[in-house]
Amino acid sequence: MRDGPFDGKLRRFATSLVLPVDPNRDGECNRCGACCMFLVRCPFLKFEAGNPNSASCRAYMIRPLQCRKYPRTKKEQIHQPCGYCFKGSSD
Ligand code: SF4
Repeated sequence: MRDGPFDGKLRRFATSLVLPVDPNRDGECNRCGACCMFLVRCPFLKFEAGNPNSASCRAYMIRPLQCRKYPRTKKEQIHQPCGYCFKGSSD
């Protein structure tokens, strides 16, 4: 059975509390902000005017683990394109 979007969001919240980021993760965030606008736009998200790849977080220093670790695994990566990829991961 496939999870709905809220199930995935709940799973990412729960796994981020106890599980590490997959060591096969590579790349870097390109600041598109897509993961900060999934289902509900995060109120702490901001962009520089006219620059779509300038997402930043007004609460960066205290952001929750699910934000710090996204995308934690390939399976939990729900946005494409994303600056991160996973090398040789079957997850
Ligand atoms: S979707 Fe990927 S590239 Fe875009 S802001 Fe989130 S982590 Fe960064």
